Amino acid sequence: KKRNAGEPEFIQAVTEVFESLQPVVEKRQDLVDAGVFERIVEPERQIMFRVPWVDDNGKTQVNRGFRIQFNSAIGPYKGGIRLHPSVYLGIIKFLGFEQIFKNSLTTLPMGGGKGGSDFDPKGKSDGEIMRFCQSFMTELCRHIGPDCDVPAGDIGTGGREIGYMFGQYKRMRNEFSGVLTGKGLTYGGSLARTEATGYGLCYFTNEMLKANGKSFDGKTVVISGSGNVAIYATEKATQYGAKVVALSDSNGYIHDPDGIELDVVKQIKEVERKRIKEYVNRTSHKNVTYTEGCSGIWTIKCDIALPCATQNEINGESAQALVNNGCFAVAEGANMPSTPEAIEVYLSNGLLYGPAKAANAGGVATSGLEMSQNSMRYSWTFEEVDAKLHDIMKEIFKQCDTAAKEYGLEGNYMAGANIAGFLKVAEAMKAQGCV
Ligand code: NDP
Repeated sequence: KKRNAGEPEFIQAVTEVFESLQPVVEKRQDLVDAGVFERIVEPERQIMFRVPWVDDNGKTQVNRGFRIQFNSAIGPYKGGIRLHPSVYLGIIKFLGFEQIFKNSLTTLPMGGGKGGSDFDPKGKSDGEIMRFCQSFMTELCRHIGPDCDVPAGDIGTGGREIGYMFGQYKRMRNEFSGVLTGKGLTYGGSLARTEATGYGLCYFTNEMLKANGKSFDGKTVVISGSGNVAIYATEKATQYGAKVVALSDSNGYIHDPDGIELDVVKQIKEVERKRIKEYVNRTSHKNVTYTEGCSGIWTIKCDIALPCATQNEINGESAQALVNNGCFAVAEGANMPSTPEAIEVYLSNGLLYGPAKAANAGGVATSGLEMSQNSMRYSWTFEEVDAKLHDIMKEIFKQCDTAAKEYGLEGNYMAGANIAGFLKVAEAMKAQGCV
């Protein structure tokens, strides 16, 4: 804690994983002796840099850029780039640490990394976004590469930003390679990457429900956020026969008891980049309400909750509200959306709980498939990628379920995910010696 003072999110993420790993410590003295636990919490490398850019008024702006190359035991570093004013070292370290185990669970050879900046994309012109992305990549390009570190999107980094960053990398290095994932389809992107995290979340949730004699069909679902993950989780949950009744952004939430009209949301968020409250003016549904503030969304009665916005968005009180309203499953599209108190409420009330590093791994898994396609210089159809994603999510659920059972924690998929994700990386670290 002293070494990482001032980084509460990182300490929270490590504490959660290490608490789950207690039974592994008892069973695997060889991993303790190999110093795996001490080594795995220290990033292999952390890079911080200045990102200067000129705004539309000709004024110089300066942001701070980060790339944490956390662990390369099982493959090149892989993880997204977050652009949000709340970004600082502790956020990128927590995300990079989580990414190690998530990437391990995907069954693909990817190490853990994460990056970002405290740049706020909201309200910026296309030109400003482009100049920022070019400046960010001018420095980052020295540290990454298709066999070394392959960044992707995250909050604030979508197709547009990846395009600008890719263009600048190619220009600086004179090299067309799969150095970023989430690329446009005309220059090496993979079909189904846009949908992957939201779809994958629902594939995982469906497996978890099935294993417990339940399903999405006819259920009421609340989803937070209205970005990439939330939109495609809404799409797949609806295809599974559920009714999604709420979405949010950082200003407030909409409640549509008749079921969200997703085409309207896509037009507002993906095309016009406007706020979710616009939905009220656009939908043909009559009973829609918009409420300022985010946390109230968890007081809406639902069977299944899929938090898809940001870290620590469900606290103990919100979790209790979900339980009181009869919610029986929570699966995380966002990274670490539940506080430790919220997780305690889920587990002590017997909720089915799908933790982020398993439930939202579909995005990075499909990024892994994008890397494979780039290496082959070939691309698969949407159906091929989607089928592979579906298989991977089934396999992730199986790993969580099996590891939980093996360690006497049946039904605790959080412990199962942490243990299964950890063991693969830990074996590789032990085999490679003290590096
Ligand atoms: P986007 O930027 O596309 O969307 C984020 C959404 O969450 C926006 O609607 C945003 O609203 C909302 N949001 C942000 N902060 C808050 C808040 N404090 N309260 C309520 N809503 C908020 O990001 P993504 O959809 O890509 O990412 C969402 C989450 O999923 C993140 O935790 C990310 O790390 C995780 N994730 C994403 C993956 C991907 O493939 N995209 C893969 C794995 C995990 P606003 O517009 O107001 O900011």
